Amino acid sequence: MSSTDSPLLDATARSLFIDGRWDTADAVLPVVDPATQEPFHEVGLAVASDVERAIDAARRAQPGWAATPASDRGAILRRWSDLVFQHAEELAKIEAQDVGKPLRHAFDNIYFGGSLFAYFGGYADKHFGVTLPTRANDRRGFTQREPLGVCALIIAWNVPTVLAAAELAPALAAGNAVVLKPSEHAPLAPMALAELGRRAGLPDGVLNVVPGFGPDAGAALTSSRRIDHISFVGSTVTGRAIAHAAADLLVPVKLELGGKSPNIVFADADLDAAVPAIVSAITENAGQNCNAGSRLLVESAIYDDVIERVAEQMRSLQIGAWHENLDMGPLINAGQYERVTGYQRIAADEGAKAVTGGIDADAPRPGWFVAPTLFDGVTPEMRIAREEVFGPVLVAQKFDGIDDAVAKAAATEFGLLVSVWTNDITQAFGVADKVKSGQVSVNEHGNTSVVGFPFNVTGESGYNHGGGYNAMNEYTREKAITIRLL
Ligand code: NDP
Repeated sequence: MSSTDSPLLDATARSLFIDGRWDTADAVLPVVDPATQEPFHEVGLAVASDVERAIDAARRAQPGWAATPASDRGAILRRWSDLVFQHAEELAKIEAQDVGKPLRHAFDNIYFGGSLFAYFGGYADKHFGVTLPTRANDRRGFTQREPLGVCALIIAWNVPTVLAAAELAPALAAGNAVVLKPSEHAPLAPMALAELGRRAGLPDGVLNVVPGFGPDAGAALTSSRRIDHISFVGSTVTGRAIAHAAADLLVPVKLELGGKSPNIVFADADLDAAVPAIVSAITENAGQNCNAGSRLLVESAIYDDVIERVAEQMRSLQIGAWHENLDMGPLINAGQYERVTGYQRIAADEGAKAVTGGIDADAPRPGWFVAPTLFDGVTPEMRIAREEVFGPVLVAQKFDGIDDAVAKAAATEFGLLVSVWTNDITQAFGVADKVKSGQVSVNEHGNTSVVGFPFNVTGESGYNHGGGYNAMNEYTREKAITIRLL
């Protein structure tokens, strides 16, 4: 079974999407199935000159797109959403095989991505400025929202459809043109999305997609003086470089970076609900999620019980290739495999004990598979307790009471998500109010069903000026206008 049966991939093979057309690229890159380590497709590889052509096209197209009535822009985005849902099966296979995730998890990603085009399609003509009071009757004051111009979008490889849609939809709804650089590790779903955007009626040049290497295609984008905004999803290390590039250009930048998010389990928690969610939070997408629940903080009284139950459930997970549709797939590539197994070694060297999993665990081969791993005996100063692994590796620590939970949760520089498990609302708020985190969940890990939930981040997890319901603010500038009535 292969996702290459998809006609969407025929359109995109060996190509770049520039100015509304699929151009055959001078260089191509094989796309590898992480479960077999075999190439199954080829995409075009953009170099700096291709990025320049994409920016040219975007600059030409943007004024016309901005002048298009917002309701018409919204209608195109809603048609795009319909097409995503109609092609959900093809898209899910493409994302699943490209990243290595089980097909049903890819389906969830496609539906969420498709819903974002519908959400911001509906928002396009409902985003407006304000009328302000004045101190004089002959004055009027108001603000209006305007697109920024051409936006550079650079994304990671782990959830490409969602990451692309979460930026494309608000940026385009607001009247910007965009140049999207997906990761060359997982470029296929964003390319397929572009083909559907073309079919939905996006004018030529409004959307351009240029997969390529970060230091080449990515750097060409972030150093161009013809870019008006940079949105970046990726690691904290690269995010810092992007922030420097944005400072040189003096353009606004949105950074969504790494995480080391804890699940905090109080002694009164409903463990039947908590344990499966905790396991899923670190094994979904093989732990390769920025909001993965990679730390487990458990109140001392129930620590042993929780460790045993989490380990047991991790051992029961079935691991396999994307089309087997089991619980967990492989890591995406050799680099990730080296990184994750490297951290497993570091943890063991630091004195942590693998309750289940670890590098010697019996994992299926070939493919970059790593067994779900739980480390006990972890102390806050260990690297495994503070640094992002980006794999199915969970580290457990004890705590006693709210203050200790908050202190241990704060023992990393990241600030993405904190999840609290308790039936005591005072305890839940005791944590929610005190933790330095962009997002907090109570009795679930991360938002699963709140529409328009802002993906807020802080600390080394990055910064932005709005996501979710607020994302149109990120992609517009507010112009303040005063009028004197003569
Ligand atoms: P990287 O930072 O390595 O890369 C992210 C993107 O930036 C890729 O497209 C990459 O291209 C590109 N890039 C790399 N170097 C440069 C450069 N100098 N200039 C411009 N672009 C560049 O991250 P990963 O792709 O490995 O993704 C994993 C990270 O992403 C994790 O830390 C994870 O937590 C984070 N992430 C954060 C999310 C959030 O919303 N907070 C969501 C998803 C992931 P190339 O592929 O060629 O390297």
